[in-house]
Amino acid sequence: TDSSTILSNWLARSAENRPQHLAIACNGLRWTFSELDRQATLLAEKFALAGIGAQSRIAVLTGSGLPYVACVHALMRLKAILVPLNLRLTAQELSWQLRDVQAIALLSDLAHQDLARQLAQLLPDLPLGLLHHPSPEVGLTPLVDQQLPFSVRPVQSVAPLNWTINLADTQAIMYTSGTTGTPKGVVLTYGMHWWNAVGSALNLGHQLDDIWLACMPLFHVGGLSILMRSVINGISVILQEKFEPAVVNQTLIDEKVTIISVVAIMLQRMLAELDTREPGGRYPEALRCVLLGGGPAPRPLLEDCASRKIPVVQTYGLTESASQAVTLAPGDALRKLGSAGRPLLPVQLSIRNEGQVAAPNEPGIICLKGPGITPGYDHRPEATAQAIVDGWLSTGDIGYLDEEGYLYVLDRRSDLIISGGENIYPAEIEAALLAHPDVQEAGVCGQADTRWGQIPIAFVHLQAQSVATAEQLLAYTEQRLARYKVPRALYIVGPLPRNASGKLLRRELNKLRPPSSS
Ligand code: ATP
Repeated sequence: TDSSTILSNWLARSAENRPQHLAIACNGLRWTFSELDRQATLLAEKFALAGIGAQSRIAVLTGSGLPYVACVHALMRLKAILVPLNLRLTAQELSWQLRDVQAIALLSDLAHQDLARQLAQLLPDLPLGLLHHPSPEVGLTPLVDQQLPFSVRPVQSVAPLNWTINLADTQAIMYTSGTTGTPKGVVLTYGMHWWNAVGSALNLGHQLDDIWLACMPLFHVGGLSILMRSVINGISVILQEKFEPAVVNQTLIDEKVTIISVVAIMLQRMLAELDTREPGGRYPEALRCVLLGGGPAPRPLLEDCASRKIPVVQTYGLTESASQAVTLAPGDALRKLGSAGRPLLPVQLSIRNEGQVAAPNEPGIICLKGPGITPGYDHRPEATAQAIVDGWLSTGDIGYLDEEGYLYVLDRRSDLIISGGENIYPAEIEAALLAHPDVQEAGVCGQADTRWGQIPIAFVHLQAQSVATAEQLLAYTEQRLARYKVPRALYIVGPLPRNASGKLLRRELNKLRPPSSS
């Protein structure tokens, strides 16, 4: 092995450097780095006795709680590979993933043991373990098989615990959330987390008393990367299992939180809740960064935040880049409203149009390269070769760089609507609709059309008590959008389909259409 890629275990180092500093707070429990380190070691010892070792692929089906956090670090001590499962998926979808990734065990927490048992019926050979924590400790027991203790295979020799991290090793395999269809297992290496944490700290600034509020699922990369940054930078995390705007707001006010990661819909709901306390309300000054990513940021939302002096920082990233790849520096937030910013230092960015590097302001496919980008998809050499050419990952997103090299993300290539030869970005129409005060959520997709090829149609979820009509909203967009972008139909519907992290699922919008309209 190349010694230049070996680091000390991040958590163990933080436990040495700041043993009494808060590592993680969740559900009224507070673990210092020393305590988290102790819990991870205890759990790793139990894992080792069960036969888990280097390269073991362990699927984990839990909520965002302390058992999951201890488990992430325990697996790192054994060089085992974490496969976090998305709690929103059905048993069928999960069993497909478990087979695809060839997991050798499935661990769940108390709240998800029923789903785990269902999976055991679909995959009878898969050992099931229960992560529980009768405080003060996280334990591991078998879930269905009554023979104690939990084991994944006959243990010849118990794997040793490791106190180093090889940046080239795989830490996790994470299936993309599937907003565009076929899931693939993205390989996440330690090096990706390392460079992401370094790039993020260089951009946002690293402060020893930072407290990061995590209220999005830990089975997505946006959540997992917060846990990694916490142990790399030695900073505290407050973990909330569910996103509740009132609870999040109260925590921001009470706990001196300095950074929070959100997607747009979460921030909208937080502001609405803040308004019920005091119209136009603000957050304490300790909050230095509201990291907004995961999807297009509607301009009215950014403007609302600017007027309240809420320090929103837009970011662009994906599972394949271990979260943030491009981020707006806090000082640029107002000057470059709507931009996702500049690539983080470890990331190279290029916009390509039919293989050629695009000119400033010319839209093309966003391509990324660097040590923070995935080496590829698990056991899918063809998909990997298609996505990554000469080290450049083609993200499938369309965007452009302005003259100063700031990225503006337009939309996903696969959601682009081409109507009569014109490119229409659904995000632009959605943003126009969201600017209307009666619109709570807006989603736009293409519909096949014999004359134009495709035409845009819109789905709107109104604010409570609003009586706005589809005609009024269409008239509103006509004043703001070129004619070919104005939706040909607009349906007023209930809440829009979203994934676990609150991202709009555009390909499911069509299901909301009233039957008579097709
Ligand atoms: P799948 O790849 O299975 O369709 P997914 O795209 O939701 O799922 P993620 O890796 O979780 O997978 O999300 C990354 C995507 O989110 C990006 O490719 C991009 O389309 C979108 N995205 C992230 N940040 C932004 C942003 N600032 N502006 C616009 N879109 C964004």
